[in-house]
Amino acid sequence: MYPPRRMSSLLLTGGRVIDPANGLDAVADVYIEDARIAAVGANAAAQAGPQARRLDLRGLVVCPGFIDLHVHLREPGQSAKESLATGTAAAARGGFTTVVCMPNTTPPIDNPGTVALIRDKAQREGVVNVLVAGAITKGIAGEELAPIGSLKQAGVVAITDDGHCVQNNELMRRALEYAKMFDLPVMDHCQDYALVSDGVMHEGFWSASLGLRGWPSAGEDLIVARNILLAELTGTHVHCQHLSTAGSVELLRAARKRGVPISGEACPHHFTLTDAAIAGSDKFWPLDGKGVQGFAGGDGARPAWPVYDTNFKMNPPLRSARDREAILEGLADGTIEVLCSDHAPHCDYEKEVEFDYAPFGITGLETEVAISLMQLVHSGRLSLPDLIAKFTVAPARILRLQKGTLGVGAGADVTVLDPDAAWTVQRRKTASKSWNNPFDGWPMKGRAVATVVAGNIVWHEETSPISVQLHNSDR
Ligand SMILES: [Zn+2]
Repeated sequence: MYPPRRMSSLLLTGGRVIDPANGLDAVADVYIEDARIAAVGANAAAQAGPQARRLDLRGLVVCPGFIDLHVHLREPGQSAKESLATGTAAAARGGFTTVVCMPNTTPPIDNPGTVALIRDKAQREGVVNVLVAGAITKGIAGEELAPIGSLKQAGVVAITDDGHCVQNNELMRRALEYAKMFDLPVMDHCQDYALVSDGVMHEGFWSASLGLRGWPSAGEDLIVARNILLAELTGTHVHCQHLSTAGSVELLRAARKRGVPISGEACPHHFTLTDAAIAGSDKFWPLDGKGVQGFAGGDGARPAWPVYDTNFKMNPPLRSARDREAILEGLADGTIEVLCSDHAPHCDYEKEVEFDYAPFGITGLETEVAISLMQLVHSGRLSLPDLIAKFTVAPARILRLQKGTLGVGAGADVTVLDPDAAWTVQRRKTASKSWNNPFDGWPMKGRAVATVVAGNIVWHEETSPISVQLHNSDR
């Protein structure tokens, strides 16, 4: 789909290089040779020699390749929704050079054979790096531990039952103890089944007025608290996935202050939208839309959507404006270290049903960077280097990856950003197989314009100046 441009050496000149892992933020050249970062700064151009392909990146930002540690690529078994080829193409378009795929597939990735299958297929069909998360329990059924040691040997980078949550606290404790023995990060989708039951949206004013079953905040807070206690008991690091509530942020903040090995991630939809969105755009904009960067006080044409739009149904659900503010604060003060998409593609026929029956989840890889830039950087909450850290060095640290850096010798995965580029989301113009994205028609500010994996340009924005240079150098 996106055949990589094979090149042995590449000189990126004149860009603002932001590499939080090395504390670098300066206009500099980056020289790539044999799929590695060979030089950054003053001697890069000298080292490159005349044979190197040159790309003038003046006015753009050059960063370590972005990592999304929470993505559903739907293989094996659900390739009508997404495949390794289409999911990684969407990742490349979104500026991601590495994604971690979740194991809640059909069958689940809970054994070394399936891990090997996905790794092999990703090697052949993927355009970006695919790392695999294995299941915590067999069949993601929450009853019996998966073979955690064999999963590690087969190459998983973490374990999680994402989409599900281990309810038995004793079993979770044992999982953490095994994970520690094998030095394997544990990630958890925090949901108390008894409390949440068959809730389909945030429990509050809007669930009552729309007549939908509520998914209370406490259903998440309780498991975050459980994970904090078990992380303390076992000394194993637990990473809490897609945090959505003010309570979770508060618990995490206090625990991290005490030194508990716990971390969290947030998704753009949770710090942009609220549960009022399910009552339709007419209700959302006057009530909570004013909290969205780029729309405050604006009288321009606003995106519109109907009430009960299933593209606003995900798990955990969109919460209240207070929760949204708490997530933004948690990201700003460092309580939440990682940004991710929870990219969850579903076919249109699955989503085009009554709200109660639609599957949870939305696509996110291609809108993630823009929304994060708008809500966090353009709003003044975070500096650009701090935002880039949440896409690079922070996820790399949690997963213990030798990635997320432009240090000399590191693999040449690079993301090139235009933080101010104006564009509009057209959800059907996606590299993903699915278009269940709620931001259709939204004006955006900022995006990735080129994605480099192992020294090869695997994607670039056709309307960017990079495109002209590449086409010229092809002649
Ligand atoms: Zn999840």
